[in-house]
Amino acid sequence: MKTSSELQSKLRSIDHRGYPAYKELRGEYEFGGYVLSIDHVQGDPFAAPSRVSVHVPMVKAGFPKEYFSEKHKRITFQDHLTRLFARQIKGGSFQAKGSGKSGLLAVSRCGQEVLERTACRADEKQIIVRFEVGFPANGRSVNAGELEKILFGILPDCVRKSLYYANIDRKALAGAVALCEDQQYIREHLSERGLCAFIADGSVLPRQSGVSDKPLAGAVPFASPESLRVTFSLPNRGAVSGMGIREGVTLFVGGGYHGKSTVLQAIQDGVYNHIGGDGRELVITQESAVKLRAEDGRSIANVDITPFIRHLPNKKDTAHFYTEDASGSTSQAAGLMEAVESGSLLLLMDEDTSATNFMIRDRLMQEVVKSEEEPITPFIERVNGLYDQKGVSTILVAGSSGSYFHVADTVIQMKEYVPLDITAQAKAAAEQFSVFGTARTAFPAYDGKRCPKPDRQLLSEERLKIKTFGKDEVSLAKNTVVLRGVEQLKDEEQTRALGYALKVLEERQFNGVRTIAQAVDALEAELEREGPEALLGRGGVLVSLARPRRQELFACINRYRGLVF
Ligand code: ADP
Ligand code: MG
Repeated sequence: MKTSSELQSKLRSIDHRGYPAYKELRGEYEFGGYVLSIDHVQGDPFAAPSRVSVHVPMVKAGFPKEYFSEKHKRITFQDHLTRLFARQIKGGSFQAKGSGKSGLLAVSRCGQEVLERTACRADEKQIIVRFEVGFPANGRSVNAGELEKILFGILPDCVRKSLYYANIDRKALAGAVALCEDQQYIREHLSERGLCAFIADGSVLPRQSGVSDKPLAGAVPFASPESLRVTFSLPNRGAVSGMGIREGVTLFVGGGYHGKSTVLQAIQDGVYNHIGGDGRELVITQESAVKLRAEDGRSIANVDITPFIRHLPNKKDTAHFYTEDASGSTSQAAGLMEAVESGSLLLLMDEDTSATNFMIRDRLMQEVVKSEEEPITPFIERVNGLYDQKGVSTILVAGSSGSYFHVADTVIQMKEYVPLDITAQAKAAAEQFSVFGTARTAFPAYDGKRCPKPDRQLLSEERLKIKTFGKDEVSLAKNTVVLRGVEQLKDEEQTRALGYALKVLEERQFNGVRTIAQAVDALEAELEREGPEALLGRGGVLVSLARPRRQELFACINRYRGLVF
């Protein structure tokens, strides 16, 4: 290992030279309390910034073992360190001057969710923090003095203040880890209590705006109806009460603007842990939950949608359904079958974003257009069978159709943001209204075996470029996967990880014999062992990734237009 003074003299020796001379700095340097590693050097001052990491031996960092001995705590610990480090380097960014991205200092930006990221990895050996540095330039030549300022002036201070236990706010860290223990406790105990989601009393569900995930100030805090109230004895906070949403079929109704979609959004985001102060930190959802919506225009490859759609007028095979341009109903049917294939045990749907003909067929329409002439079996006829046969629960928002009263196990009315349990009234009212086709029927058998072959065209690319466009799109070579309808994707780093995952799956897993589930199992085993770093391969340029859920891995595979069977 080279020393920091070797780096210093090397740096001084390349001053004023052409920018590529910076490449000579690649390598690891001992800085006393930590190792600085220059992993990748940018090609010019305007290119993506250089990738640098610091490695602090745990014996020196001094954090208690309990913070990284269990996975869920480790992820929260890593998230917390990333946020602390981000706060430190923010002040140091662009202190060093020059052209292009000179002086930039940046690490992954953590939002309201706690995600596992390549930005930070902590174990009993060490803490690694990976970040970006814009190596300073004068025009297009090396400005060694300014980089020296960053690496020897600014950075050591940032490392010292954020990655050493002795120097950080220990109470804040302990609080973050304690919260995650409580969150984990609820998530692990949902199923034994027969619940698929929990919303603690006092939670703040609405967000500031469509573009800010921060809590809305002055919101009406959540309060469970008495009949649905459950209490968890959490390891840290003790007894916490709130609304338990039972397995089976739960319906949210209520007038427009009374907070129905807001509750559903909080539930769909409850698959993630949120940071303290978010308002939704004790909104906890069964981890495999999938929000389904109509996604006109998406591609579908080889999905058996016969439980919902058969006998199309154009004789198209719906047991092996393919389309490059799905309709609302076919997209939602395929999305549902794919979610079940991914192992999801909870489906979430909002009337606002669903295809009406997928959800219901009203009585008058059933009388006029005979069932034999209608290719679609609406979801309302399948929702009970889905739970009975597959154990898949549904939480549904429906403001305008009472038909679901017949099939719902629980009906909750949102009234001025307050949930009321109206199951009994709703059921009594429904008795007076007979509807066709809501007899409890079994979910039909279907062909769920899907074994993709490798996409030769993709694999023939010499240098496969993976690019994200916000969190909604990722492209591999010329192939763009549109993920706009995948609402539980929360971070662009997850989207990028999906692009890399798809590449790994194509290269190593898809072989025409393995099912998608088996391929994803194999990939997830690697992710479990190595973290999202597993997606980058050895010697790959480090990019910032966050681990996506299994359900989003499936969603990305299924929306990839190069998926071949
Ligand atoms: P719905 O789906 O019933 O039409 P929304 O969930 O879209 O209603 O909510 C309507 C508006 O009310 C949104 O602007 C939302 O931010 C706000 N809102 C939702 N819940 C609350 C709450 N608990 N307190 C204050 N405002 C809320
Ligand atoms: Mg709504």
